[in-house]
Amino acid sequence: MPNLLIVPAAGMGRRLGRGEPKALTPLAGRPMIDWTLDALKDVSFARVVVAAPPGREADFEVVVAGRADVIAGGETRSLSVRLAFQSLNPSSADFICIHDAARPLVSGAETRSVAAGGEVTDEASLLERLGFPIAIVRVSRLGFKVTTPEDLEMAEALLRCREMRIGKRETDRT
Ligand code: C5P
Repeated sequence: MPNLLIVPAAGMGRRLGRGEPKALTPLAGRPMIDWTLDALKDVSFARVVVAAPPGREADFEVVVAGRADVIAGGETRSLSVRLAFQSLNPSSADFICIHDAARPLVSGAETRSVAAGGEVTDEASLLERLGFPIAIVRVSRLGFKVTTPEDLEMAEALLRCREMRIGKRETDRT
């Protein structure tokens, strides 16, 4: 059963108040979408589609750097998901994962557990109506969505801690 991944990233992050696509917001030195795609790399996906704000596809192509196809998203998140879904043109044999670009701290274990199957919500009901089986899995609070400037600060601090821990492990090993 091929795994396909949709990453809705077409939001403009108005609640962040930065006047640029939320997924391009710098976070601990890298654009948010870069962290998010990295966090999802524990699972092998046959295809990945990122929905970018219409007109900003080229900026996203640079950051995505071949890890996904970039398409123009829509005015609402559900429209962005629908457009990505249409571009994937999946069959009922495919397993479709949808992960917000605004959740850069998802863990590899959580991604793997979703790609094993569990219960779902929002667009899950759309997929269910189309006859696709859906699943829900329990995830940690670190899977929070970046919405407000406070969330951005929290994500920044957590990602910097994570980088420091990785750096320390590598130093200890040498
Ligand atoms: O705006 P909100 O935080 O709810 O967005 C959740 C996710 O959906 C974000 O990753 C955002 O980029 C994406 N989104 C989208 N298309 C929109 C609005 C939001 O892909 N029109």
